Order: sequence, then C-alpha cells, then structure tokens
Amino acid sequence: MYLHGTSTINAQGHLEIGGCDTVDLRNQYETPLYVMDEALIRQRAREYIEAFKKSGLSFQVAYASKAFCTMAMCRLVEEEGLSLDVVSEGELYTALQADFPPERIHFHGNNKTPEELQMAISAQIGCFVVDNFDELHLLNAIAAENKTQVNILLRVTPGVEAHTHEYISTGQTDSKFGFDISNGSAYEAVQLALDKPNLVLLGLHSHIGSQIFEVDGFQVAAERVSAFAVQVKHELGATFRVINLGGGFGIRYTDEDAPLEVSEYITAITDAVKKHFTRVYQTLPEIWVEPGRSLVGDAGTTLYTIGTSKDIPGVRKYVSVDGGMTDNPRPALYDSKYEALLANRALEEAEETVSIAGKCCESGDMLIWDTKLPHVVSGDLLAVACTGAYNYSMASNYNRIRRPAVVFVKDGRSDLVVKRETLPDIVANDLIPQRIQKQPFALERNS
Ligand SMILES: *Cc1c(COP(=O)(O)O)cnc(C)c1O
Repeated sequence: MYLHGTSTINAQGHLEIGGCDTVDLRNQYETPLYVMDEALIRQRAREYIEAFKKSGLSFQVAYASKAFCTMAMCRLVEEEGLSLDVVSEGELYTALQADFPPERIHFHGNNKTPEELQMAISAQIGCFVVDNFDELHLLNAIAAENKTQVNILLRVTPGVEAHTHEYISTGQTDSKFGFDISNGSAYEAVQLALDKPNLVLLGLHSHIGSQIFEVDGFQVAAERVSAFAVQVKHELGATFRVINLGGGFGIRYTDEDAPLEVSEYITAITDAVKKHFTRVYQTLPEIWVEPGRSLVGDAGTTLYTIGTSKDIPGVRKYVSVDGGMTDNPRPALYDSKYEALLANRALEEAEETVSIAGKCCESGDMLIWDTKLPHVVSGDLLAVACTGAYNYSMASNYNRIRRPAVVFVKDGRSDLVVKRETLPDIVANDLIPQRIQKQPFALERNS
C-alpha cells in the first residue's frame, strides 16, 4: 500500500498515521475506524492557496463539503482560509453549528427547497449557485419577502464532460445540472437574473466532472465560458466578476492513478482564464474552484479488524472485515479500487492473494478484489488507504450496522471528531404504533 501524508511504519512494524500507532487507535476507539491525517488535509489546502497566490488573480477555494462533512472539518476549513460549498440543509446546519463564517458559504444543488433557501437567506450566506429557472424565480421571490438581495452564480454546462484521462466535448449537454450554453438557456438565465431586483449576478459556475487527471477539460471549459462572457458583454452589456470552474481534481487511490500536483491543475486554470479573458475584460474575474476529494481523500484511512476467512481451493480466498459497503460503498457503487496493508504486521512479506469482503448480506459487498497480504488471521488489523472522501459522507446503516467513529490524528495526538453510533442510536427514531405494541397480559384477554 502506498503511504500517504504522515503515514509510516514504526519500529514495531505497525502502521502509524499522524504519529499515532494504528494498533493503539484500535485499542482506544475500536474498529471500523476512519482515521484522518489532519496535517495532510492542511497541506492540501495550502497547496491550493499557494498556487492561486502565485497566479496573481483574486480567488476563492471552496471545499466541497459533501466529500466529508463534519463540524470539526468545517473548523479546519475555516482555519485554512477556505470557503465552503454546501448542498443541503444538513450540510449548511453542520457549517453553521461549527461557527463557519456564513459569508464564505456557497449553496449548490439542483433542487433546493423553499425551506433550504429561506434558511440560507436567514443565515446570510455568501452565494447561491442557481441551477435552473424554477430556482431563479423562487430565490428572487424569497429574497424579496426577506427584503434583501442575494449573490448568485449561474451554473452553466459548457459542453465539456471530463473523465479521468480524457474529456468529451458534448454539444447539447444531457445533464440534470445547470443551464446549457449551446441551446441558449444560459443566455436566457443571464437575462432573467439581470432583471430580478433581489438577485445580484456575480458570475458563472461550471463543474465538468470528478477524479480528473488532465487539465485540458478545464482549459476547454474556461474557453467556452469566456466565449459566452463575450456574447453577454456585447449583447447585454454585463460583465461577470466571478468565474467558478468547479472541482474534480484527481487523487491516487492505487498505482493505476497518476494525478497531477495541485499546483499543476491550478496553474492550468489560471493561465487559461488569463488567456481567454484578457481580450474580454479589463479586469480579470475572480476565480473560484471547489475541490472535495483532493482535499480529504488521501488523508483518510479506514481501520478494520479481520474476522472470518473462506478459502475456496483453486478459486479464491475471501477475508472478511468488520465493516464493508456500509462505511465504504464506493467499490459497490463505482467499482472503485483501493489498496490495503496489514497494519499490525506491516513489515511482513505479502505472501497470499486474498479478496477483502465486508460483512453485509450482499455478494457485491466487497472492498478489494485480489490483493497481496501476509498470511492473515482473525484479529489482525487491516488498513485501507485513501478513504477520506465519499466514505463517511456516504456511509449507511444497511443491515442496521452502526456507523464508525472518525478521529483526527496529528503529531502523536488523536481526537474523536465523530462518535461511533451506539445500539440505542440505531433505534432512536423508531416508533411502534399503539395498536401493535406488545400489550401486558391482562389486556390481551378477550373478556
Ligand atoms: C462534487 C462537486 C465538487 C467536488 O468534486 P470533487 O471531485 O470531490 O473534487 C465540486 N463542485 C460541484 C458542483 C460538485 O458537485
């Protein structure tokens, strides 16, 4: 397994993260356990800020909190000077409870409810990323009721869809998100937004994909957005102060992945904006980006205790852990690949090929197919790397499995940031209607 951030193997042959021995972490917090390398999260945040500072452009780096949203994470994000994207009342509430500055919160989503819009207006958040015509009308109406004006970006689809290694140029974009540039909806949305007295149109937003390893998709998106800006300036006399080019910067899950450095993505984006907008505007727009995965993904490691094994001679050996698709649904959902390490015997030679199974009642509940490990026995500690993004945030209670705890580790110190769910938590919202409650014996008799 590739050792990310502060991960290292100590003199006892144990995996250590943030100066904390993972065997000690298991003893203290039990498994499954999400371990987040705080120094690595901070380092990634600083890489974004540094790259933008070098460009000389004004900027905001907004953490897409859906990747991993907890109150402690919101605190880290504020301390590092980033902004925060939220997509629901739950993420907004988490940020507000963590005292995250509302003016640095951006609200995304293709179906924000009236209640969510009202909550965000009351909190005086910094910006709404408006996704469709219904929202444009609704947000203006709610802002008017509140006798206020709100900042907006319009989410546009520039006809670029980026995948890991290539981008696809699509004409008419088939997507549930945003206003299409090529069919004129984006233009119509700009006209409408300019006419709405309670909306302040700051600019445009585009997000082209996720786990992207090349810069050309971002470059083409910047070019198409700039061409649209030219049209809007000439025909409507309006200029955009902000161009948001989204997130999607790739990370290394396995050695098949070759992401660029953060600075390479950002330099490509700022260079593209300089190149395409210099001929459009006297003052270059402020650039916003929204990394999610790349801020937290490789900072996370999940620790599991190994339980049963099933060896099918000549076929495969299954090794089961005390978690699975409930704490990491990505292999089942996306066929995602992960790497593992035997954390309590990390220096021993890998000698057998095994497949790591979860404990849920689904054949698809597999974490890793065919990985080499030392001979494992029940009670061993398994570490799966790169689980910081879209693991905790997508965790479920399938099979009524309790969701794991999350700890931040740094400089030999560990702090619980999410408690492990308890069995009473599992039934906390359950109700039994009176008519099917178990009756005392005397009442059961028909007299
Ligand atoms: C999910 C999302 C992001 C973050 O994507 P990552 O791949 O995690 O960087 C950014 N912006 C928008 C609009 C998103 O939906």
